Amino acid sequence: MFWQKDLETISKNDLAALQAQRLAQTVAWAKAAPFYKDRLSGVDAEAIKSPEDVRRLPFTTKDDLRGAFPFGHLAVPKSQAVRLHASSGTTGTPTAVYHTKRDLQNWANLVARSLFMAGVRPGDVFQNVVGYGLFTGGLGMHYGAERLGALVIPAGTGNSRRQIALMRQFGVSVAHLIPSYALKLAATFKELGLDPKRDTKLKIMIIGAEPHTEEARQRIQRAYGVRAVNSYGLSEMNGPGVAFECAEQNGMHLWEDCFLLEVLDPESLEPKAPGEVGEIVLTTLTRRAMPLIRYRTRDLASVLPGACPCGRSHQRLSRISGRSDDMFIIKGVNVYPMQVEAVLMGFKECGDNYLIELDAAGGADQMTVRIETTENARTMSSDEFERLAGKLARALRDEILVTPRVELVAPGSLPAGPGKAERVRDQRPR
Ligand code: AMP
Ligand code: ZN
Repeated sequence: MFWQKDLETISKNDLAALQAQRLAQTVAWAKAAPFYKDRLSGVDAEAIKSPEDVRRLPFTTKDDLRGAFPFGHLAVPKSQAVRLHASSGTTGTPTAVYHTKRDLQNWANLVARSLFMAGVRPGDVFQNVVGYGLFTGGLGMHYGAERLGALVIPAGTGNSRRQIALMRQFGVSVAHLIPSYALKLAATFKELGLDPKRDTKLKIMIIGAEPHTEEARQRIQRAYGVRAVNSYGLSEMNGPGVAFECAEQNGMHLWEDCFLLEVLDPESLEPKAPGEVGEIVLTTLTRRAMPLIRYRTRDLASVLPGACPCGRSHQRLSRISGRSDDMFIIKGVNVYPMQVEAVLMGFKECGDNYLIELDAAGGADQMTVRIETTENARTMSSDEFERLAGKLARALRDEILVTPRVELVAPGSLPAGPGKAERVRDQRPR
């Protein structure tokens, strides 16, 4: 069952031809943007004959987007752009992304294609539990789900009890949430004496927008009795609808008819082989208002080798293991927050919310992992708590090679908002 069978099952040769043609078109379009005018002046768009020709083109970075803010990347007259979104980046100058009417139609279609692939069908009731502002997860998923033909509830974020009431009143079958919030909402169900498996009609959860481990996904699936589908996207590439899991849940098909994928070594910028983790670099292939060429996402993943049994030919990305700028260095060792999460989630006494704190209070760098316990840990004695903290510290050391301090805290005591979770707080002097 496909949304656009011809495109989703396109042969490698046909895909390469389509990508080459679209890449040439994209370069021609991009030349109209002030930012690319000089950079692409020596590039002959008509000489682009294969997707590999992208390797002759310059990269675009987040700093480039900031530097050209607000209009330097706009490649059409302002009157043709009908929407802008801005990245949620919490530091520095914001970045803006523009869309024409046609761009928005393409985007909605990609999201509809992704949702259909995940098992969503017309007739489903779809609750969109993410922010509706500049963040792309709100409107992006909303219009895609409408395009597919689902009944969409634009719930937005916040007010967990109301979210649960909506789910139950309208027989919601599909919900879109950030994974950390999905876990928090599961706790609210429990507080209310409700069991999502018994008391809702949920069957699919779309989770994305922030890094999470397979263990976190398993917890969501168990708590709700749903298939939790990984959705990857970023504002710079529209938002949701870049890569999505199919029903096989074995990696995320990246829509290669609309995005040209490279996985590169972040230092040498040489291509990585399938199976090797590198930085995802993407080029838009259909966006008119704001073409982006070789955009360095900073997200780390690998291309999974082999064909997918679902029949779609688009390459599959592994789970995003982190962002190259999420990595922190402690005592000379590189650590990714997801390594910590994977260890914590393996312990049944550990709850779903955690925070890694780095400081230099005692003179030397120190790492503290604060983790909420589960409700049933409330009955544990202080000796048992201590033993558990010790066990966690050793398990973390085996994974990250540094022994952190572990603090077990009561359920619900760490900050948790509806937006992307804060996982690392670095208070070391710079
Ligand atoms: P924004 O453009 O502000 O919505 O943020 C996009 C970023 O969120 C991406 O570059 C990733 O770092 C992260 N992200 C989005 N979806 C996922 C996902 N499914 N898994 C891991 N990280 C994700
Ligand atoms: Zn598949």
